[in-house]
Amino acid sequence: MVQARVEVSEVGDVEVAPHGGIVDAHLHLLPPRLARKVRSVFDAHVPGQLAYGIDPGPVLADLAAAGVTQGWVLPYAHGPGVADWLVPATYEHLQQLRQGDHGVELVLGATAHPDDADPLAALASGVDDLGARVCKLHCAVGGFTADDPRLERLWRFCAERALPVIVHVGRSPSGDSTPDDLAAVQRVADQHPDAVLIVAHLGAPAITATLRLLDRHPKLHADLTPVVTALPAIDPAELHLRADRLLFGSDAPNTGFGVHELLEHWYHQSPDPTVQQQVRGGTARRLLAAGA
Ligand SMILES: [Zn+2]
Repeated sequence: MVQARVEVSEVGDVEVAPHGGIVDAHLHLLPPRLARKVRSVFDAHVPGQLAYGIDPGPVLADLAAAGVTQGWVLPYAHGPGVADWLVPATYEHLQQLRQGDHGVELVLGATAHPDDADPLAALASGVDDLGARVCKLHCAVGGFTADDPRLERLWRFCAERALPVIVHVGRSPSGDSTPDDLAAVQRVADQHPDAVLIVAHLGAPAITATLRLLDRHPKLHADLTPVVTALPAIDPAELHLRADRLLFGSDAPNTGFGVHELLEHWYHQSPDPTVQQQVRGGTARRLLAAGA
């Protein structure tokens, strides 16, 4: 373990660190009660396989030790009415965490569900009143498709604001994405060419379909977040080619990998400094700046 950390600090030198530091674009530092509930689901399905406990203090310390200076915190609505309380509760939680001296800038995410009375309400107020700068839609947990017609106004809002939307597509509780699920993303991207969509987990296991979608839509992105203990398998040549469309993410604290270990993995996939700078934060920072 100690050995691994030494190795990572070698590969994490300034040459491959993006300007401003590393961005983890996929974190779930949820309000404590919800964090416990989500963890109990993981404990039931993949007992003993997660790298972190749910206490955010050690998670933030580990992120900072790995060189992460910014984290996108992504709450997600699993059903109707959830976004209404979850977005403000996540904001309150982050306000507390922001008082710590961990040095990680925490970016608030908003969320929505098509069964909400007004699926745009919590998102718009999260953005306008609470400073949310990204949105997360969890189709797999929420049981909906990205192109649900009730999300039409939401997509228009996000496209107008250039607000990055992280979409975890899928209909199964395992969180797996299929080419059909990605076809729904394609329809959204066709209809809203200015929408900044980020396919979570590289659409695993439908990674080839995700990469072909990236070919088709210049505003489409994807994150490299593992699915619990499975790293998304991507050809290093594709990683090289797509680095300006790919974002590093850990899923912490609900991840099978420590952040150091993940950074090391992606470094070994492609040690090219430009690739590393983009994947480790250049791409994420560019998207946030465009939406500001
Ligand atoms: Zn996630």
